[in-house]
Amino acid sequence: MGYSGFKVLLEGLRGNTGWKPVWRDPAPKPRYDVVIIGGGGHGLTTAYYLAKNHGITNIAVLERGYLGGGNVGRNTTIVRANYLLPGNSEFYSHSLKLWEGMEQELNYNTMMSQRGVLNLAHSDGQMDAYARRGNQMLSIGDDAILLDADGVRKHAPFLNFDSQRFPIRGGLLHGRGGTARHDAVAWGYARGADQFGVDLIQNCEVTGFRIERGVVQGVETSRGYIGAGKVGMAVAGRTSQVAAMAGLRLPIESHVLQAFVSEGLKPVIPGVVTFGMGHFYVSQSDKGGLVFGGDLDFYNSYAARGNLTTLEHVMEAGMAMVPILGNAKVLRGWGGIMDMSMDGSPIIDRTPVGGLYLNGGWCYGGFKATPASGWCYAHLLATDQPHPLAARYRLDRFATGDLLDEGGAGPRPNRH
Ligand SMILES: Cc1cc2nc3c(=O)[nH]c(=O)nc-3n(C[C@H](O)[C@H](O)[C@H](O)COP(=O)(O)OP(=O)(O)OC[C@H]3O[C@@H](n4cnc5c(N)ncnc54)[C@H](O)[C@@H]3O)c2cc1C
Repeated sequence: MGYSGFKVLLEGLRGNTGWKPVWRDPAPKPRYDVVIIGGGGHGLTTAYYLAKNHGITNIAVLERGYLGGGNVGRNTTIVRANYLLPGNSEFYSHSLKLWEGMEQELNYNTMMSQRGVLNLAHSDGQMDAYARRGNQMLSIGDDAILLDADGVRKHAPFLNFDSQRFPIRGGLLHGRGGTARHDAVAWGYARGADQFGVDLIQNCEVTGFRIERGVVQGVETSRGYIGAGKVGMAVAGRTSQVAAMAGLRLPIESHVLQAFVSEGLKPVIPGVVTFGMGHFYVSQSDKGGLVFGGDLDFYNSYAARGNLTTLEHVMEAGMAMVPILGNAKVLRGWGGIMDMSMDGSPIIDRTPVGGLYLNGGWCYGGFKATPASGWCYAHLLATDQPHPLAARYRLDRFATGDLLDEGGAGPRPNRH
C-alpha cells in the first residue's frame, strides 16, 4: 500500500475504511538466516538494509514488547552530524544523508524537519572549540556556521542574554540538523522491512542463547526456540543483560535519561538549542510542545522513568538560559534506559561467540545514528567485515586503549 496526499484525501472521504495493517503479524518460523534481537530503530533498520542492500530476507526481528516501545519512541528526536573526531564524523555525516532521503525511500512521512541545531558558547575557549568542530564538519562536506553573540540573538532572541554566569559569546549553527518524528521512523522502517518479507515478531523476548562449540545456533525465547545462522543484538538499554546470556561482560552501563514536554505553544523555538554548560537542550515539536531534557539520572537503573532530583536539575538549567520556560506548563516527563559505553561511542562488531554480533553502547545519541547504524550493522552481518564507516566502533578498543572519546572526558558514563 503506497501513501500519497491523494490517498489521504480519498480515505478521508471513505471514512478511513481502506487502510490496511502496515506490517504482518507472523508466527515465528523454526529457523532464520538472521535473527535480530530488538525491534527498536537499530534492529529495524538493520533488517531493512540486510534485505535491501544485501538481498538477505529470511530474517526475524524479535521484540520483547511492541515495535518502537523502547528508546526509539522515547527520545527527543534530535538529528545532527556535528561530530569532531574522525571515526564519528564520517559515520554521522552518512547518517544525516540517509535521514534526508528517508521519507522518499520509505514512502513514509517521518516528519524530518531540518530547522537547525544551535550549540551555545559561553567562553572564548568554547568558541575556539566550536570553530575547530565547525571546520571539521565543513571539511567532510557538512554545514556549520560560527555565530557571534549578535548572530545568536537574531536566531534565538528569547535566550537569556543578561546571564552573568553564562554570558552568551556565540554558537555553532548546524543548519541541516533538526528533528524527526521518532515513532514514524520505527514504523516506516518496520513497514519497509516487512515489505521485503522480514518477519517482525512482537511480544517475543529472547531469554537465552543456544551456543555449541563456541558458535551460536539460535535463541531461546518466550515463544519457543528459534534457530539462526547469525544473531545480531540491537537491544540498546538491555545490551549488557542480553550479552550476559551469551557469557559476555561488556564495557557498558545502563542509566536512565529523562525528557519532558510542555503544553502546546505557538512557534517560538526555531530549531534545536543546546546549552551544554548547564546541560540542557530544547526544541519545539510540530504540535507546539517544548521538548527538552538534560543530564542522565545519577545512578544505574533499568527503570524507564526518572527521579525528581534530575527533573529539578533540568528545569533549573532550562530556566537559566531560556527564562520563558517559566511561563509554560510541563505536561509529561518520561525516561529511557541508555546503554552508556565507557568512551561515549558505540560498538558495532563481532563478539567472541561465533555468529553473534553486537550493536550497542549508543548512549544518549543513538536516534540520529538510526539509519547509518542499520546500514553498517547489516554490512557486518552480511559480509563479516566491519563497514568502513563504522571501523572505529570495535569492541577491542576497550582492551587496546584506542578509545573514541568525543567528549574528551574520560571513561565515565555519567559525566557532569
Ligand atoms: C529521553 C531520551 C532522549 C534521547 N534523545 C536523543 C536525541 O535527541 N537524539 C539522539 O540521537 N538520541 C537520543 N536518545 C537516544 C536514542 O533514543 C537511543 O540511543 C536509541 O533509540 C537506541 O537504539 P534503538 O532505537 O534501537 O533502541 P530501542 O528502541 O530501545 O530498541 C531496543 C529494543 O530491544 C528490545 N529488547 C530488549 N531486550 C530484549 C530481549 N531480551 N528480547 C527481545 N527484545 C528485547 C526492547 O524492548 C527495545 O524495543 C534519547 C534517549 C532518551 C531515552
